[in-house]
Amino acid sequence: MSAPVVPDLHSVRNEFRNELLASGLLIDAGKPGLYGRSGLFDDIVDSLDGALTGIMAPLDAERMRFAPVYPKTEFELTDYIVSFPNLTGSINGFTGTDRDHASLITARANGEDWNDWLSPAETMLVPAVCHPLYERLSGSLPVGGRVFDLAGYCFRHEPSSDPMRLQAFRMHEFVYVGEEETAREFRDTWIVRLLVLLQELGLDARTVPANDPFFGRAGRMLARNQLADDLKLELVVPIYGDLDDGTAVGSGNCHGDHFGQSFGILAGDGSVAHGACVAYGMERVTLALLRTHGFEPASWPSDVRKRLGWAA
Ligand code: AMP
Ligand code: ZN
Repeated sequence: MSAPVVPDLHSVRNEFRNELLASGLLIDAGKPGLYGRSGLFDDIVDSLDGALTGIMAPLDAERMRFAPVYPKTEFELTDYIVSFPNLTGSINGFTGTDRDHASLITARANGEDWNDWLSPAETMLVPAVCHPLYERLSGSLPVGGRVFDLAGYCFRHEPSSDPMRLQAFRMHEFVYVGEEETAREFRDTWIVRLLVLLQELGLDARTVPANDPFFGRAGRMLARNQLADDLKLELVVPIYGDLDDGTAVGSGNCHGDHFGQSFGILAGDGSVAHGACVAYGMERVTLALLRTHGFEPASWPSDVRKRLGWAA
């Protein structure tokens, strides 16, 4: 008699990925964590975005959109390279002469790598959609601060076979910059609204204290401090049953005065500005919906369909 097959996390993740590819919802784009998406997948993203924008409407946030590429000088000020060097992505370009180009083409024709002919373009891939905002805020903010609605692509170099872990994904963030007390209130208030929307969408979501994956030995202390100071909350949904602790489909972060200090932003009361943001990872919420309700949105529960603005 053969032993019963006990599913392990790795094979369950692979199975979910294979099902998504077979259904056409995701399209293999050639590297782990890089996918194209079907129209149906993006219809869900768009409807989710509509529901999210709806619940955040009372904030009257200033809507801004930035490209997924920003100056290295600004990236530098975020200190991202100190905390997450392994997730970083930078842009290279060709700025050589005709002669350099000819050498590149010869190397390429010989099957050699041509990376050496490219050089840093002094631009970086955006790892969180709020990063390109802060330089724009240097100076003084009005009393009460400002609230922004930011969305777009983020890049994090974390190739994985888990379809929940992408290298390029969309984030929709609501960001407060201003007085310290208001920043924490903002995070604590709006993370609850984000949680409730997930629950209204039929997801078994909960809020858990969390830390960012700071790199290396020094990072372990940063992670401990972040947890101890209650700076990060994640919205977690079970995707792989009991095999893991669930996947973060959103988060709420208190940045303290980190960006205020680095970018020279003052709150209305003259103190260094504090910041906070709450966000959904749009692909992750969409994948959680597909995992929970099945791959046929036409047959999702009618209250979920209604909440997404679809005919029930
Ligand atoms: P964070 O700033 O790390 O809290 O990220 C905000 C949200 O973006 C997370 O809660 C996830 O939903 C999403 N996210 C972060 N990293 C990834 C990734 N590698 N792939 C897909 N979504 C991600
Ligand atoms: Zn942010």
